[in-house]
Order: sequence, then C-alpha cells, then structure tokens
Amino acid sequence: MPEDSVKVAVRVRPFNQREKDRNAKLVIKMQGSTTTITNPEAPSEEPKKFAFDYSYWSHDGFTSQDDGILVPNAGSPYASQHKVFQDLGQGVLDNAFEGYNCSLFAYGQTGSGKSYSMVGYGANKGIVPITCDELFKTMGTNQDQNKRFEVTFSMLEIYNEQVRDLLSKDNPKGGLAVRQNPKLGMFYVQNLKKVPVGSYSEIEMRMEQGTSNRTVASTNMNATSSRAHTVVTIVFDQIIKDDSGNETKKSSTMNLVDLAGSERADSTGATGDRLKEGANINRSLSALGNVISALADQSENKKTVVPYRDSVLTKLLQNALGGNSKTVMIAALSPADINYVETLSTLRYADRAKKIKNQAVINENPLD
Ligand code: ADP
Ligand code: MG
Repeated sequence: MPEDSVKVAVRVRPFNQREKDRNAKLVIKMQGSTTTITNPEAPSEEPKKFAFDYSYWSHDGFTSQDDGILVPNAGSPYASQHKVFQDLGQGVLDNAFEGYNCSLFAYGQTGSGKSYSMVGYGANKGIVPITCDELFKTMGTNQDQNKRFEVTFSMLEIYNEQVRDLLSKDNPKGGLAVRQNPKLGMFYVQNLKKVPVGSYSEIEMRMEQGTSNRTVASTNMNATSSRAHTVVTIVFDQIIKDDSGNETKKSSTMNLVDLAGSERADSTGATGDRLKEGANINRSLSALGNVISALADQSENKKTVVPYRDSVLTKLLQNALGGNSKTVMIAALSPADINYVETLSTLRYADRAKKIKNQAVINENPLD
C-alpha cells in the first residue's frame, strides 16, 4: 500500500500588541521551506534549524486592503490566507473528490495563529471556509447526470476530556460517549449531530452556530482563546450510477481540528479550576505527543504500541494520525523572543510529526 508522510507546515504571525508593548525581538527566520529560531539567551549560538514541507512567513511585508484582506507587498515573501489555501486546502479538496479521508490540524500555543489559519477572522477567511466554499463550487460544475453528492457537517469540542456537540444546545452532563466500532475498530462519538448541508452558506451558518456554543474561558495569554479542542467533520459522499443502474459510493471524511493551546498551565498564570483545565488539556496534548512519537518510531521500523486510547483526542484522531487519511499539520508560531521556549517546543513537535506515515485508501463501496 502506498505510504504518505504527514505534510507539515509552520507559519509565523505578526507581533501582537503584548509583544510590541514588551519590545519583543524577532527570533524566527525563514528561507525557502526552512525555519530557524535563535535562542534570545544565547544570541551568538548557532540558531536551531528545521526543515518542513512549507515555512510560511506571515510576520510582515503586507498591506491591509480596503476590504480588510491582507495582501503581500510587491516582492514580499508574506504568505496570505490565499497562498496557504492554495498549498494546503486545494490538496485536501482534490483528495476529497478522489475519495480519500483528509485531516488538517493546527497546533501551537494560545495566540500563535491556529484559528487564524484554520478559520480566519473577518475578510481574511482561513483554510476551512475557503475549502468548504470551493467544495460546493466544484460540485456545482458537475455535468454528470449519473453522479450526485451528499454532504454532512458536524462540530464538536473536547473540553476537560469530555465531548460536547457544538450543534446541540443540550449536551448530557459528563459529555457524549466515545465508542469503538466493533467491526472497523474506529472510535466515534455516540449521538453526535450530523446535519446535511446543501450549500456553502449553510456550512457557514453551522460554523457560526457551533462557534457560539464553544466553551470559552479567558487566560492571561488571550482573553478570547478557547481552552478546548475544536473538531469540524465534513463527510463528502459521491454517489455514482453505472450503465446498469448499480450505485457505488465514494466517501471522504474531512477532519478539521483547531487544537487547544499547547502552552503549559503555569506560563499563563492559571490557577484553581483553570489550572485543572490546563492540566487536562496538557494531558490530551501530551497523549497526542506520545502518539506522534510512537508513530514516528514505527516509521523507523521500531516496534511500539501506539497509545491512541490514552485520551479522547487521540481516539478521535486515530485515522488522521496513523491510518487511512491524508493529513496536514499546521504549526503556528509566535515571532517573539518572549515566547522562545514554547515556540521551540512547537517546532520540535512539528518536526516529529513529519515522520508519520499514513496509508490512505480510496473509500469506494457498492451502495446497499
Ligand atoms: P490561536 O487560535 O492560536 O489562539 P489566533 O489565530 O486567534 O491564535 O491569533 C491571535 C491573533 O494573531 C489574532 O488577532 C490574529 O488575527 C493574529 N494573527 C494570527 N496569525 C496571523 C497572520 N498569519 N497574519 C495576520 N495576523 C495573524
Ligand atoms: Mg484559537
């Protein structure tokens, strides 16, 4: 079976107000697909160097148009939302049409730009909305009378190891149950709402509904940051009738994951309940780290058990990480010296993820 490495991109954002107020220094450099980081405590040391599939410079060199869209200045390497979609989103879309499962997830500390890349803000739409928009546009060009499409949308969050349905107003106490399909072995969320959607604007409406239902707790890092993992799942089915009237279904599941902040609880000054949240979030993310490490070891032919069962997040991402999926990870980076430790840890995480190899297959079956 053909193996495919997880595609990894990193992206560095502009300084935020807090960093400007503290006279932060730039520690990130990018050249081609390579990213380097300088230790502000040891500026004369050789910078640490990492190679990725893509290194996106979104730190400076852009202008805000009248409509608010950030565009690169002439000759600037600034990577716009459009550029990131072209490199990463278009591939997700193409794979979905071929019937592959696709996963896209964003990793990084709170305020590093995960949601900006995934969802975007205002006119600067991120990969998820652009990809959904393009999905329906492409479906609209279909001329084949024997082909029809079905799209469903669901959105959940994992908060303190509990799953909440973001399309539902009344979630059970303790969260929805995560169960394992006895035949396929895959984990799924029981009773999660999956709504059929017939247009991009319906998806947009559902995303807004889901976003407004998220659990939001403020931390010192970013007052509006989510301390939860948000997972949007789009199932895209193509039903094709052959000359004798038999139907087959090509099915692609797209998982789009905006992970909770990767920072340690203590660096955000969290106390009390927040600290417990932080500890749980880190448990879930450290489970993800362990899964990534185990998969990286497997790709080097070391025998290891992959500990998917250690957290809800890793159960639900099992296919995305070590199975039947084409997977892209975007690691969001702060440019500032004051975040050096967290940013270095993000770069190391991303570096390990590169080693993971998946075996994606086209999901095509007779319709019964
Ligand atoms: P996170 O989701 O990781 O907590 P956000 O995506 O909310 O972080 O980003 C924090 C802030 O930085 C937001 O105000 C966002 O607009 C800004 N930002 C992030 N990435 C970029 C970028 N590539 N270009 C311009 N601004 C960005
Ligand atoms: Mg966010």
